[in-house]
Amino acid sequence: MTHQEKAVMFLRQGYHCSQAVFGAFAEDFGLDQSAAFKISAYFGSGMRWGGSCGCMTGALLVLGMAMGFYDTQDRDLEEYGNRKTSEFIRRFTEQMHGEIECRGVEKDTLGPQGTGREEDLQRCHRAVSAVVDILEDMMAQFQAERACRCENLDTHSIIRRANELRQFQYKVNTLLCTSSKQVAFIQFDIRQFKIINDLYGEKFGDQILDFVVCRLEGLCRKEQLFANLRSDVFMVVMEFGEREEITAFIQRLDEQVRLFQNVQLQMSYGVYIVQDRYMEQRQMEDRAAMARKAAKQNVLTNIAFYKEQFKESLYNRKFIEENMDKALAERQIKMYLQPKYSIKQNRIVGAEALVRWLHPSRGMIYPDQFIPIVEENGLIQKIDYYIWEEACQFLSRCKAAGITTCPVSVNMSRNHLRDSSCIQVLTEMIERNGITKQMLELEITETAGGQIRKKAMQLKKEGFTLLMDDFGSGYSSLNILLETPFDVIKLDKKFMENIVSSQKGLLILEQVVSMANKLEMGLLAEGVETKEQVDLLRGIGCDQVQGYYYAAPMPQDEFYHILIKQYGATA
Ligand code: C2E
Ligand code: CA
Ligand code: CA
Repeated sequence: MTHQEKAVMFLRQGYHCSQAVFGAFAEDFGLDQSAAFKISAYFGSGMRWGGSCGCMTGALLVLGMAMGFYDTQDRDLEEYGNRKTSEFIRRFTEQMHGEIECRGVEKDTLGPQGTGREEDLQRCHRAVSAVVDILEDMMAQFQAERACRCENLDTHSIIRRANELRQFQYKVNTLLCTSSKQVAFIQFDIRQFKIINDLYGEKFGDQILDFVVCRLEGLCRKEQLFANLRSDVFMVVMEFGEREEITAFIQRLDEQVRLFQNVQLQMSYGVYIVQDRYMEQRQMEDRAAMARKAAKQNVLTNIAFYKEQFKESLYNRKFIEENMDKALAERQIKMYLQPKYSIKQNRIVGAEALVRWLHPSRGMIYPDQFIPIVEENGLIQKIDYYIWEEACQFLSRCKAAGITTCPVSVNMSRNHLRDSSCIQVLTEMIERNGITKQMLELEITETAGGQIRKKAMQLKKEGFTLLMDDFGSGYSSLNILLETPFDVIKLDKKFMENIVSSQKGLLILEQVVSMANKLEMGLLAEGVETKEQVDLLRGIGCDQVQGYYYAAPMPQDEFYHILIKQYGATA
């Protein structure tokens, strides 16, 4: 029977529209029909009480089950889900010509012995049929998107995956309720998995994930439960007697997953030992996740056990996530400018725009504290646009004062590599502020993969000047340099530490200078703090510098006054 036929049958049998919709898909989720009716009955009534058609709740339940909103930390999925909900409501409203309220429907139309008005029943039939059509279409679309991401690999269907996670959760719950031993949550992921994906391709990345699952299958006993929560994040829940059993398990696992087809894999393991079995499972998972993140930052070991302090960093994250929109709206976000100097000329030749958050009670918050978080939740885009606009306005102010030869560079987060509108946004900002593309430069951090190359080509074609930020801090910088049309190399701060401490560091830098010259690229050294560094740089022919030795980042007004003084211009 098709979903459509099932839904009509249930409706005829007198079930609520919410039950008819959810019931029609119950089998897909391995749900017992009567359980499905029970679940949807309450949701449907609740919705109708508020006035909206119960079909909508039924449909949203189906979407939720199909897309498996299991992991609170998966923000992409959450965003995707929100978009899908809006899409569903829009399409349903359109198909029903705006008639999505049930207030007019007689109450006893609904329910197993419904005896309502014919016109109400017809409306319900129309609504249910529309909903089932939309759902089938959206689920097919969802499957196609997933399949496209995973190409030909034997990936599980969405529904099966959501079921697996539910079953995992159920088994964990049973273990927590029945085990007489202690229980540990071990969450782990693969360090730099995104980079591996970029370098070797997503297909290879997926093979790695299958390989880890295979190894877990071989290693875990019956009472050691595991699941692949999302992407490269895995969870093992196990009972244990002594704490050493946990580390021994992790070591055994680590030995087995360390190497895949000549590629070294490094895992980060976070462990949470359950103290209160009545705590929500999600909270237990969150704690294991916090420990995993702590393990990631530790260079000495790749295992971390949860500590109460970790919660503090979670609170910080929450604070940033919850307050950033307000900070932007209330202009607590400020653009600071750090001058770039020419050693030879001993004068300012440009500046870099750097974001600061001046919070009314917390004071100055530096980008390192919030950029990694907003890069994860996508808010970085708004922040970058904000700073770019500030930089354009600043340049427009300089132009009005007759200064057009002091370009300002802005940072472009790696998130923009996938943002198709950023070039248009930049162009509009430049035009609106009456400045030129030569005045606003773009700093992009070296990353792997084709994305940077593609975006850089497009930007270059549009006439922008591109600076490769943090050169030498990542990997395969040379390849990217050869394949991507950057204009200027910004040497990472680490170079400055090395040139004074080792002869080898200086030698490498000399080669970079000569390479930049041969490639006819500009070169700028960042993090210059001492006279000794300035002298060494002068000696090897690197003229442009940025660093505390000359000036720290400063509020834009302060920089403006310094510029005016240097150029002798009038504001
Ligand atoms: P970055 O682009 O490498 O920026 C240079 C950082 O080095 C700045 O830190 C700057 O204050 C610091 N610095 C400058 N001179 C010296 C020095 O002599 N010694 C040392 N040790 N450090 C120096 P800041 O402002 O805290 O920014 C940190 C990072 O945050 C930036 O690194 C950049 O990756 C990111 N960031 C800052 N503003 C933005 C922004 O508007 N958008 C985006 N996407 N990222 C930003
Ligand atoms: Ca930068
Ligand atoms: Ca940098």
